[in-house]
Amino acid sequence: MAIESFNPYTGRVVRRFRAFSWAKTERILAQAAREALTWRTTSFAHRAERMHRAAALLRARQDELARLMAIEMGKPVADGRAEVEKCALTCDYYADHAEEFLQDELIKTPAQRSFISHEPLGVVLAVMPWNFPFWQVVRFAAPALMAGNVGLLKHASNVPQCALALEAIFHDAGFPAATFRTLLIGSDLVEKLIADDRLKAVTLTGSELAGSKVAATAGAHIKKTVLELGGSDAFIVLADADLELAAKTAAQARMINAGQSCIAAKRFIVEKPVIKEFINQLKTHLLAFRTGDPLDEATQYGPLARPDLADELTEQVEDSVRQGAKVELYGGQSEAGNALFRPMILSRVKPGQRAYHEELFGPVALVLEAHDADDAVRLANDSPFGLGGAIWTHDAKRGEALARRVEAGAVFVNSMVKSSPEMPFGGVKKSGYGRELSYLGIREFVNQKSIWIG
Ligand code: NAP
Repeated sequence: MAIESFNPYTGRVVRRFRAFSWAKTERILAQAAREALTWRTTSFAHRAERMHRAAALLRARQDELARLMAIEMGKPVADGRAEVEKCALTCDYYADHAEEFLQDELIKTPAQRSFISHEPLGVVLAVMPWNFPFWQVVRFAAPALMAGNVGLLKHASNVPQCALALEAIFHDAGFPAATFRTLLIGSDLVEKLIADDRLKAVTLTGSELAGSKVAATAGAHIKKTVLELGGSDAFIVLADADLELAAKTAAQARMINAGQSCIAAKRFIVEKPVIKEFINQLKTHLLAFRTGDPLDEATQYGPLARPDLADELTEQVEDSVRQGAKVELYGGQSEAGNALFRPMILSRVKPGQRAYHEELFGPVALVLEAHDADDAVRLANDSPFGLGGAIWTHDAKRGEALARRVEAGAVFVNSMVKSSPEMPFGGVKKSGYGRELSYLGIREFVNQKSIWIG
């Protein structure tokens, strides 16, 4: 894929970049590996000062960064600013808590003294997607740099300006240049990088296909990986739920980032007595979302990030309808090659249809009918993915009991799935493994070393 900023709203290429050669990439890797030896010896206070400065810079550059996202991947500026604020919060969070999360952990044994120490691994490669161009990177970089690692970023090829803006933030915040570098490379150089002994670990957020390829290479070279992959989150609505609130939240949860979020609610599993009313209300809420130029403050959803993504989504919808799904709300593309995709609802989604088995990465709500709560959990779990899930019921205790039975990395009762710095984030099944955020996230890329003093 060409490394370029292509504005999906105007259909124009804004800027093209020359991809780094292997020689240049290798030079940067060498600098990073040298820096890793020094950076690991710095104090938490030293790192925290810089991380707080990065947070301040994110806030100071909020408008400019939101504009870059609007231009490169179609995110409305109001959402872009919120994303940047969340990044700043997360930088502050790890600046404040990294030392506590990584302090020595005393363990009682027959030894005079025994404990676990957490030591940085060194150079970590982050392969990142375009959907939250700042958030995905910061949720890796803030804990990684605070832990004493250094980061190399291979961002998605359609968000190079966001990638460079991130590098500038860390550099301007006072991190030594080699602690965080953006590599403008295609996925072809990733394998070579992973094979190099100076690179110690990889984290990838993206599709199942990219995840399995990167993990296979890392496996061949015995390197640690964290994979944050796709999801087809269930949003269960039981008959006793507050239907109005559930339907309103359902629309918001489906429309996050024009539907292009791994934790967007994708499968609405609704108990039979309320399914008709739920669909009606969901329709009303989805129709109320306003589209337009992502640079316009009033826009609530923009085009999908690239026209080919909209084409692919149309194919998934058309195939599913041919296979028996029913269109409840007509939307979609006006023509092939147009990145704008209006919200849709499909009902009667059943096994054998693409929509039942695949992730639909755009504003298409899938409605599945459940006979009862057990059936709803069965349907929720009948998916290759296991990222998030939501359960709506008047009875919070029942919701909690059902939440424990859903195969996912996170389940929210009477709320939509969200990430926050305090709670771990990640999946099971084909949604990946490992955790980001919270104290678990910062411990992914450290050597948890046992020290025994006899
Ligand atoms: P993608 O095509 O997998 O791309 C993600 C990143 O992987 C990009 O930087 C891409 O580079 C790179 N890549 C692709 N193929 C590769 C390969 N063979 N070797 C090495 N790198 C490779 O995914 P996407 O379309 O950007 O993102 C959508 C997917 O990400 C969805 O499935 C979504 O659910 C998932 N996602 C998951 C999470 C989570 O936290 N679990 C969060 C956000 C998104 P190029 O751009 O150069 O191809």
